[in-house]
Amino acid sequence: MEDARIAYDAAIEALRLREYPMLQDTTYLDHAGTTLYAKSLIERFSADMVANLYGNPHSASNSSQLTTRRIEDVRLRLLGLFKADPDEFDVVFTANATAGIKLVMEAFRDQEEGYWYGYHGDAHTSLVGVREAAMQHRCFTTDAEVNQWVEEEGGLGTRAGLFAYPAQSNMNGRRLPLDWTGRIRLRKQGAVYTLLDAAALVSTSPLDLSDADNAPDFTALSLYKIFGFPDLGALVIRKAAGSIFDKRRYFGGGTVEMVVCLKEQWHAKKETLHERIEDGTLPIHSIMALDAAMSVHEELYSSLEEVSKHTAFLAAKLYNSLISLKHGNGTSVCHVYNGSSSAYGDSKTQGPIVAFNLRNHHGGWVSNAEVEKLAAVRNFQLRTGGLCNPGGVATSLDLAPWEMKENFSAGQRCGNDNDIIRAKPTGMIRVSLGAMSTLKDVSLFVDFLSEFFIENTPPLLVPPVVPLDTEPPTHSRLHVESLSVYPIKSCGAFGVPPGVAWGVRREGLAWDREWCLVHQGTGAALSQKRYPKMALIRPSIDLEAGVLRVQLTGILRDTAFANEVTVPLSADPRLFAKDSMYKDGNAQVCGDHIQAKTYRSPRISTFFSQALGVACHLARFPAVGNGSGPLACARHSKPHLQKSQKAGKMRVPGAFPETRPGMPGMTVSKPILLSNESPILTISRSSLNRLNEMIKAEGGKAAQSEVFRANVVVAENPHYPPGAEQPYAEDDWRYLQIGQQYFELLGPCRRCQMICVDQQTAERNQEPFVTLSKTRRFDGRVYFGEHTSHLAQGNSSPLAQNPTIMVGDTVRTYFEEEVHYDDTLHALVS
Ligand SMILES: *Cc1c(COP(=O)(O)O)cnc(C)c1O
Repeated sequence: MEDARIAYDAAIEALRLREYPMLQDTTYLDHAGTTLYAKSLIERFSADMVANLYGNPHSASNSSQLTTRRIEDVRLRLLGLFKADPDEFDVVFTANATAGIKLVMEAFRDQEEGYWYGYHGDAHTSLVGVREAAMQHRCFTTDAEVNQWVEEEGGLGTRAGLFAYPAQSNMNGRRLPLDWTGRIRLRKQGAVYTLLDAAALVSTSPLDLSDADNAPDFTALSLYKIFGFPDLGALVIRKAAGSIFDKRRYFGGGTVEMVVCLKEQWHAKKETLHERIEDGTLPIHSIMALDAAMSVHEELYSSLEEVSKHTAFLAAKLYNSLISLKHGNGTSVCHVYNGSSSAYGDSKTQGPIVAFNLRNHHGGWVSNAEVEKLAAVRNFQLRTGGLCNPGGVATSLDLAPWEMKENFSAGQRCGNDNDIIRAKPTGMIRVSLGAMSTLKDVSLFVDFLSEFFIENTPPLLVPPVVPLDTEPPTHSRLHVESLSVYPIKSCGAFGVPPGVAWGVRREGLAWDREWCLVHQGTGAALSQKRYPKMALIRPSIDLEAGVLRVQLTGILRDTAFANEVTVPLSADPRLFAKDSMYKDGNAQVCGDHIQAKTYRSPRISTFFSQALGVACHLARFPAVGNGSGPLACARHSKPHLQKSQKAGKMRVPGAFPETRPGMPGMTVSKPILLSNESPILTISRSSLNRLNEMIKAEGGKAAQSEVFRANVVVAENPHYPPGAEQPYAEDDWRYLQIGQQYFELLGPCRRCQMICVDQQTAERNQEPFVTLSKTRRFDGRVYFGEHTSHLAQGNSSPLAQNPTIMVGDTVRTYFEEEVHYDDTLHALVS
């Protein structure tokens, strides 16, 4: 068995030298098994063209008659390739598979009651598009869902139904069950027609339509994927389903008169299905070339069965090699996206396509753009990106619809450099083997991956801060009590639910101050200082539904037409006003101009305007991406962060060291969104408790942590006795380790009277500002909480590609003296 395959492979290798001289230094692994055209094919086609005169088929001349005869022969031969009985099937020539799919879509669209459309989640984009003309449509995400639906009782009424699926996924080569077509016909009693997209399958596999009762009603083909040349597609139609085309409104060929005129000359054939569907002149020379292609394909490869065995053999080798590639530390290099029900080497369930992504030895993802560039240099022809398979890619990469839209609006496109977002790849690498592929291609490709992507040096997981005392603490004193974000600047807090790993970015916690409200007249961002009721506008982030949900609470209830409004998390450009009324679409935050885009929906503007009683728009801060994205629009925090120094127990403004050798942070201006001062604000529970004791001692009302608009509340662990609290210890902290992430403290946060707005009632109090100014005032300024900034880790591990922290995470604190730096990016143990 193996010997036979190796012998066949050697024959192909020899054939390649003869037939594809340009493949000498090229490894062709591109596009769903597209076969390259062979020299023999072009020679045969050219001999035919030189020897014969083929006229336009619409006349009675000899040349025209010859064309017609030949085309009818090719039609028959093509049906024969798929064992389709010409009494049961007809074939229509199309430009490509997509054009065949569109013909079917048009026929269903023209049915009196329109049509119901069901399609499998593995569908190629061209099948997905059929839903746009349907009255109702449904995407089946799994095979099990299809099976369940097939068995369900109950029809669709009188509306025509169409179920479409790919015989083979163009994304990862998984082959789907071919018996669905017969089962659907039986179970749905003819109410649902079937469309099989065989474009990817037949490039490397036979397709047997001999059992007409169980065959698909419509089978779309890309002939160029089998033969390489000519550029032609076909739609095989089961004649029993042909009446669906009777309602087709378009009449091809030009005007109606011309059709009548044609009818008189061609009356004999006018009734045939294909003639009613093939609009305009057929691609006659391509059809002649198809005849030559079928002959040459048979001579070179003998049959599609042989091609199937050969490619299945190669694909199994490739797959096994890829999954066994390991980094020096033993971790896998390739993450292959294969279906759980398919197996390489089994041509019933798996075609010769391998879709995968590469990981570095930290476990982070390697950018597809990087792979593609290196592959191009080494003359590997392969494909990367979304692969025209939206459902399959989203499932494999675990991308939610909002993430795909968000990635899209962050500038991510098929074939874009910025292809790792939130530590998830946005596309994949696809390698397709075809009739002309050989074992040599497979080994060259595996060698290429080994050469460039296997890392043998031990991974150096250098945290940005390394304590001098490397002894891990036996137990930690502090933990994260709560995490909050303020999705809309100056509005209510959204508490990150316990157990949810929340993203930390260079600009702050994920979704913090992504939005703001801007005055319709001035374009200035609204704040609680002037509009305390903003506290009662409660945004929450619903990642599941992909929306920002905004609710009105307290006295704001029933002020607007609705109590809730939702806004997509994705910054879909269509949501925003093109030229907003403000100069350059700028909103002002604390005097700085930022490029916020206003939402155009009157529903959204009215909701906020009615709630607050001020004409305003919701605006979105443009995506900053994952640190690598465009930062052009980010507002940079100004160096007006307080510099402080240690003076007694309290840092005061003045002499905070200007720079630290090599430490990112103090010298680099950090992009932040709409928060006024720094990316993250950290406060201490003990400090707040101390403050509240003092407020209560004077008979005042204790303050809640929300008024400080902190993102991180750090608290003593419960097992610490109450007396062991260390209020204001944060004054001396220099770095924090939260969970596995490191943070730098930039300085204390200066406070204003905004902290006096009760976040539950929107009432203004005197506290905590009065007590704070008595106890925490230095040089006329009042401080509470610490500006904090995340320190990125200088490697591409998942921890670094998608840094997250959680409620309950352990917090370690470091004083100035406890860390050492060198002048690289990282601080190191000296
Ligand atoms: C290639 C392909 C298509 C599109 O075929 P065209 O000939 O480009 O129209 C559709 N579906 C699948 C599964 C494919 O592989």
